[in-house]
Amino acid sequence: SASSLWSRYRSIPIVYRIGVAFVLGSLAGLIGGEPLTALQPIGDLFVRLLKMIIVPIVFFTLLMGARRLTPSTLGRIGGVTVLCYIVTTAIAIVIGLAVGNLVDPGVGLDVVSTDVQTKQAPNIGEVLLGIVPTNPLGAMAEGDILPVIFFTLVFGIALALLQEEFDADTAVHRGVETIFDVVEAGAEAMFKIVWGVMEFGIIGVFALMAATFGTAGVDAIVPYAKLIGALALAVGIHIGLTYLLVIQRGILGESPIAFLRGAREAMVTALSIRSSSGTLPVTMSNADENFGIDEEIYSFSLPLGATINMDGTAMYQGVAAIFAANLVGQALTLGEQFTVVVTALLASIGTAGVPGSGLIMLTLVLTQLGLPLEVVGMVAGVDPLLDRLRTMNNVTGDLAVTTLVAHVYNGIDRTASVWSGSSEPAG
Ligand code: ASP
Repeated sequence: SASSLWSRYRSIPIVYRIGVAFVLGSLAGLIGGEPLTALQPIGDLFVRLLKMIIVPIVFFTLLMGARRLTPSTLGRIGGVTVLCYIVTTAIAIVIGLAVGNLVDPGVGLDVVSTDVQTKQAPNIGEVLLGIVPTNPLGAMAEGDILPVIFFTLVFGIALALLQEEFDADTAVHRGVETIFDVVEAGAEAMFKIVWGVMEFGIIGVFALMAATFGTAGVDAIVPYAKLIGALALAVGIHIGLTYLLVIQRGILGESPIAFLRGAREAMVTALSIRSSSGTLPVTMSNADENFGIDEEIYSFSLPLGATINMDGTAMYQGVAAIFAANLVGQALTLGEQFTVVVTALLASIGTAGVPGSGLIMLTLVLTQLGLPLEVVGMVAGVDPLLDRLRTMNNVTGDLAVTTLVAHVYNGIDRTASVWSGSSEPAG
């Protein structure tokens, strides 16, 4: 009957259903071409639904996490998290440069002149000052994640402190308890919504892929095959070596496969929607439901990571810098490659996790090296593909570091999650 078909369909893990939609959508776009770009609004709807829950999910889970946080533990967790983010990003750029040197993308191509808007380097002072909102509701309304994190943490820690100060029978104590209970329910509701949205995501992903390949076509891709291949190789090496071998196997002593099983919904979503902040609700529910990580860690590290940690984006700057240098037939000196590491690291911190921001960032790196900005216009056509790889790497990096920090602070439940290998992950 129809209802048993439906329940059979629902029993297939969502990541496989999305994977099939991804492949079928891509094929449909390649075969159907231009007309399929009409499906874009359906894909946009999926992305909007995900974006809708970013601010509430961050607010609820962070407040929930704050229940067990003191300023000093937060300081320690925060410091270790930021350090791990920076170190893994630097490694990513070095891998990007190394693979770029090896594959030599861009050799044999000519610079084609195009118009490019340049971007100002983010001013680190301003970025830091911007973490403190002048109006917390304004920051929420704008979806500015860093100031939202800041206000929510301050609020949550104040609540936790009040709860200790006031006796159990006081109105303040009971009020704090109620707020914590309410946000716990709120967070659970958001996780429910995530999986509902993902059911629709199966259609959304089909539409997004059909529209992408409906526009690009294979012909547009061929001249840049080496660039795409180089980035794919660098992403594969970084995920395989840094996240899986060193972090999962080496430090956590866990199976790399367990990590991939736990992160798969987030990885597929990132590939599909090209935005690490849009993927955030899925990333957070993977951390919670698959990995069994404590809220006080992931509710802080993941929104932070979606905003400042972009291994794939930074790595792309390395690959693209070599591509650009090859186009003009000039090799980058070791000193210039070091400049790439520093510029890409800083720029990736100040860039938003939205589609295509890595391409805009490229103008910074090229300007820094005195390479032609036309390169940005040339690669813009294939950026929808490159962006997918970058974003998937970005999100995987956020989760890998989160498991690492949770391991250091004993914040992983190794029984009720993918680690034990006993239960099928959520979705
Ligand atoms: N789209 C990427 C992200 O959201 C950023 C980029 O363009 O590299 O993480």
